[in-house]
Amino acid sequence: MNAFARYFHWLHGKWPAGSIENLPVVGEAGATNVSGVRIVGDLSGVPLLKFSSETGTLAVRAILAEPEFVRQRGQDAEVVDIAIIGAGVSGVSAAMEAAKAGLRYRLFEATQVFSTVANFPKAKPIFTYPTDMTPSGGIQYPPTSSVKEALIEDMERQRREAGVETVMARIEKVERRGGVFVLQHGDDAKTETRALRVIVAIGRSGNFRRMGVPGEELDKVMNRLHDPKDFAGKDVLVVGGGDSAAEAAIALVVCGARVTLSHRGAELNRPKPENVEKLKMLASDPSASVAVSQPTSERVTTAANSEMRGTKPAGSLRLALGTSPVHIESGKAVLRRGKDGPEEPLANDFVFAMIGREAPLEFFRRSGITIGGERSRNWWITAALSVVFFLWIYHWKKEFFVGTPVDVNTTVLKSSAGSDPTGLLYTIRESASYRSFWYSFAYVIVIAIFGFRRVKRRRTPYVKMQTLSLALIAIVPLFLLPEIVLPWMGHNGFFAEGAPLRGFADQFFEVANWKLAKLPEADRAAAAAFGAERSYWRVIGFILAWPLLVANWFTDKPMFGWLIVGGIQTFVLIPLLVWRFGKGAYCGWICSCGALAETLGDTQRHKMPHGPKATRWNMVGQAFLAFAAVLMVLRIIGWIFPSSPAGAIFHFLHKGAPLGSGLPLLNYEYFVDLLWAGVIGVAFYFHLSGRVWCRFACPLAALMHIYARFSRFRIFAEKKKCISCNVCTSVCHQGIDIMNFANKGIPMEDPQCVRCSACVQQCPTGVLSFGHLDGAGVPALDRLAASPVQMREKATA
Ligand SMILES: Cc1cc2nc3c(=O)[nH]c(=O)nc-3n(C[C@H](O)[C@H](O)[C@H](O)COP(=O)(O)OP(=O)(O)OC[C@H]3O[C@@H](n4cnc5c(N)ncnc54)[C@H](O)[C@@H]3O)c2cc1C
Ligand code: SF4
Ligand code: SF4
Repeated sequence: MNAFARYFHWLHGKWPAGSIENLPVVGEAGATNVSGVRIVGDLSGVPLLKFSSETGTLAVRAILAEPEFVRQRGQDAEVVDIAIIGAGVSGVSAAMEAAKAGLRYRLFEATQVFSTVANFPKAKPIFTYPTDMTPSGGIQYPPTSSVKEALIEDMERQRREAGVETVMARIEKVERRGGVFVLQHGDDAKTETRALRVIVAIGRSGNFRRMGVPGEELDKVMNRLHDPKDFAGKDVLVVGGGDSAAEAAIALVVCGARVTLSHRGAELNRPKPENVEKLKMLASDPSASVAVSQPTSERVTTAANSEMRGTKPAGSLRLALGTSPVHIESGKAVLRRGKDGPEEPLANDFVFAMIGREAPLEFFRRSGITIGGERSRNWWITAALSVVFFLWIYHWKKEFFVGTPVDVNTTVLKSSAGSDPTGLLYTIRESASYRSFWYSFAYVIVIAIFGFRRVKRRRTPYVKMQTLSLALIAIVPLFLLPEIVLPWMGHNGFFAEGAPLRGFADQFFEVANWKLAKLPEADRAAAAAFGAERSYWRVIGFILAWPLLVANWFTDKPMFGWLIVGGIQTFVLIPLLVWRFGKGAYCGWICSCGALAETLGDTQRHKMPHGPKATRWNMVGQAFLAFAAVLMVLRIIGWIFPSSPAGAIFHFLHKGAPLGSGLPLLNYEYFVDLLWAGVIGVAFYFHLSGRVWCRFACPLAALMHIYARFSRFRIFAEKKKCISCNVCTSVCHQGIDIMNFANKGIPMEDPQCVRCSACVQQCPTGVLSFGHLDGAGVPALDRLAASPVQMREKATA
């Protein structure tokens, strides 16, 4: 590994970077982009029985609350109120709620009522997480439902008692025609059911992911392992790199099979550490005493231990990492090393393809329902339009630095009261004649409105406090101080010659000559002495530290006030804050970019790309940090040796100056501050989530990533409660694969975390908690509650 690769690994590359499954995009009460179609059950997020029941019920209640539905109901006897597709737990729960409300509904099932549960392994124990939750309608789970058979019996009884019947038919798509939804079924899909609303409850089972190699269709290729004893003495190839593949391989080897485990990655970093440990033990000693006593994977349905091998000889295990199958035939399988490496034939009796399942996405594509992570033509067109719009906005706003007054209509403010320079209205009128005022004003309004909505959506004390902090900082130091309070103080002599605050103002807000230039020449000297017209915008430097805001450092003459305050901020206060509370103490509680991402971007977080490719982009910020550091050094040399070329080089790289001979687009101010922080950061809000700039490119975040490698902050996980549902990873808008820490019980220390709390708050079983390692390295949990499940558990304890 070269130095750069080692640095990347140390900072970002070493953390798990699993990707997230593409699922249909589901909003409140199952709403989708196709108005009138709702999705419930596993497909709406959490793959657990209780949540599935509840989502079915809530979708029906939301339909009943739609005024349009109430108006349309009963107008056409041929049109049912609701068509429900899928008679699993959620579909039957929806039907029970519809029956209770007296709706005309039809429930379609392709194979067998409750087919997913009916296919659980014999006598499978049923876990009814979260234990303190009672679904607010639909199927209930009494303590008697402790094993599969009893659960089915209980659910069937509840279905019969509610009078819920099904129509046996597979529905292939939902189509809107003439203001209603049409579902085709029956022989040759000739029968049609028309419905006002549709609830899709088809579960996540879908299809097993395919390897895409010749021979995959042979009978010897399987996706589930029921009885490992059947494979004793056989040559078996297991394909995959997760817990399913690991547990299948372990179970097969301990029962006497000769197993090759093929995984395309160079390391096994997805399975639980204990499974990896067992694989390593078996690879070096096949008779090692290991067992799979409670398979975590639903694809390995039988426990296995070495006693099950009986008198047969021990199996064997070869870990073929960095390989993938290319061909399967009778008695043989062929692996290839890497993408273009050599081929390796293997004797083979059976293949287990344990490479995951795909949700039934074709159904949704055919029905026009948006699938998360898929980029349609529409996605590209709207992303391009958004970039053009924000390019325009930021060029418009850039007047901030030049100070050109604009024609923004301020007539309302031009009252007679506004003509007294010491009056508040005069100050507001003057500030409002600059574009920056309107930009900041719009920013504050957005934070306030979307912040309020976030607090309503995520009801935890943590979110309330965090949103309050972000909103107050946005309103006071980022808007009221620079736009109103400080200019008003200036007009009222607070910074005039001889005033106590004059020295302070000179150090932090220099007299703005461009403002003075607007005055009649005769008045300029007096106005300068009075000292009202200053660069008050610099006050945001108290919040936005170097190198997020470089303007207070990259001045032609050093501004010592800012150098001292900024130095303490960036190199003392922030490191201490990050060391104790993590990078999120700044990014999630203070920063203006974070404020927008956590409020306006709160519903966009699932759009952040995950996986190793996206992780490589994290290094853009390191490049910008290095750029800022080089500029800082040049700037300082230029101050100390004004006649050296350092100052000119600095200007060339910083602003592309002198105009015409500098770096017109690649200079720091344009490329980093305007294109990345402004245009790219905001234009992709609704396409790639609100943290694009924060995660990939912010140079201050890049510096804090380094600090965070020494931080004591962690997200702790109660491993035994984790059901590996991936909800936490999918809502992380910093692209962190939090599930991969949680289901192994490893404290999360990826430096990217901004403490947004979405993972902690949305985890359905309350696994995650914010905290830190104390002086003795012992976990200490935060007191500010961030998990609603833990709050409920505490209340009922
Ligand atoms: C092996 C295993 C073990 C589990 N153990 C537990 C546990 O212990 N505790 C727990 O809380 N959860 C457990 N779960 C999760 C739980 O089973 C699911 O959360 C629940 O079944 C999801 O309900 P659903 O209604 O969304 O989908 P499903 O129950 O999958 O029902 C979907 C139904 O739709 C039908 N269907 C599919 N496509 C169509 C179509 N095109 N037209 C018509 N019908 C269609 C299917 O045949 C099926 O009957 C387990 C899951 C598995 C796979
Ligand atoms: S708190 Fe959770 S969701 Fe938010 S950034 Fe950290 S790991 Fe990601
Ligand atoms: S920690 Fe993550 S994967 Fe585990 S149960 Fe919670 S949300 Fe699901």
